[in-house]
Amino acid sequence: MNFVSTRGGVPACTIEGALAAGLAPDGGLYVPERIPEILFDAPPPTLADTARRLLAPYFAGSPLQACLAELCTRAYDFDAPLRPLIGPDDFMLELFHGPTAAFKDYAARFLAEALAALRDPATQITTTILVATSGDTGAAVAAAFDGRPGFEVVILYPDGRVSPRQAHGLACWSDNVRTFRVPAHFDDCQRLARQALADSDLRAGRVLTSANSISLGRLLPQAAYYAHVAMHHRAAHGVALNFVIPTGNLGNASAAVLARRMGAPVGDIVLACNANDALPRYFAGADYTPRPAVATLANAMDVGAPSNFERLRHWHRDDADLRGAVGARGVDDATIAATIRAAPARHGVVPCPHTATALHLLERIRDAGDKRAWAVVATAHPAKFESIVEPLVGHAVPPPPGLAECLRRPARSWVLANEYPALREALAGAHAERF
Ligand SMILES: *Cc1c(COP(=O)(O)O)cnc(C)c1O
Repeated sequence: MNFVSTRGGVPACTIEGALAAGLAPDGGLYVPERIPEILFDAPPPTLADTARRLLAPYFAGSPLQACLAELCTRAYDFDAPLRPLIGPDDFMLELFHGPTAAFKDYAARFLAEALAALRDPATQITTTILVATSGDTGAAVAAAFDGRPGFEVVILYPDGRVSPRQAHGLACWSDNVRTFRVPAHFDDCQRLARQALADSDLRAGRVLTSANSISLGRLLPQAAYYAHVAMHHRAAHGVALNFVIPTGNLGNASAAVLARRMGAPVGDIVLACNANDALPRYFAGADYTPRPAVATLANAMDVGAPSNFERLRHWHRDDADLRGAVGARGVDDATIAATIRAAPARHGVVPCPHTATALHLLERIRDAGDKRAWAVVATAHPAKFESIVEPLVGHAVPPPPGLAECLRRPARSWVLANEYPALREALAGAHAERF
């Protein structure tokens, strides 16, 4: 299959080309030329099996086709359980059982496996993965590429806007990972990264790519868990599963839209946003207006200009079509805090602040009399946001094993000014250091 840019300014390319490039050369996002429909007769037994079936059409004709099953087995080696909550037909899709305790582990691991399989073993050129992160992407990408020969990771994150455990998780890796704290917002980090990726002088003689949620290699693998749980739910209960998805840059939710378009029994999709309300305003009928990000308790969703909006728009005829496909609501910090405090008694779980936005919208959906099956997507483990969650629930939230292991390792990071020349110099340095 071929892939095209949402901006239509470059020729179609292969999956290898799209994975390696990250962003399309015209500044757009890669999307499949057409979305294949998959007819699943019965739900595949494991998440890795579903991933292989779902991803296969995108890899048709690619050098990765032959090893796709193996890539999926290695990348999807932890489960995405659908846990029943207290309310009837209330569920939680737990996406936090990977090494860095957030959903980004799935796609980061798949992308790392795919890029490593594509790498020519004879080449001397190091591939640099540049990643702007609001907290969780950087850790997942670092973990996925940690110590992998031929790859280095450069992380940019907004200084002071991530939790202490997140900051540690961004900076506790091998020498092939360099972590920079930028005194700015996530959107600024993202702008710096996009500028570097579009800098043809910088790219000359090196391989520079991104692993942000703008990358196709992040989007496609995330469709697997939606398809997997929705198919199993339909097999067991005969109905589609509806999802409330904590949303920032719109990568995870775009994957749910993709899974549904591929034929998975995904019902309604509701985006749970925080006080960064460009999407809720748009879906309520206003023009799409990106704004500067504001800091909230759900920091991984502090995105004022969600990049993947361009993909969603590309997939829909017009605004009315898009507004009919997805809903969105914003949740303020006071409500996030109240939801976390009440969640153990009300739902039987301790949510992270991101998951709490979705849990609150589920409560509103129930208040409105909706009796259908809904899954709240748990995007991170609450222990990653201990400084917010623990005081609200009144007890310690111990980190899961993967996160505990990363917290035991020493961490180091550097400060980077919020200006492009500083990043350019740092990248040149990262490059030079290795040769
Ligand atoms: C990244 C992240 C989100 C937002 O996901 P997008 O794909 O950017 O919409 C939500 N919750 C957590 C915990 C995250 O790390």
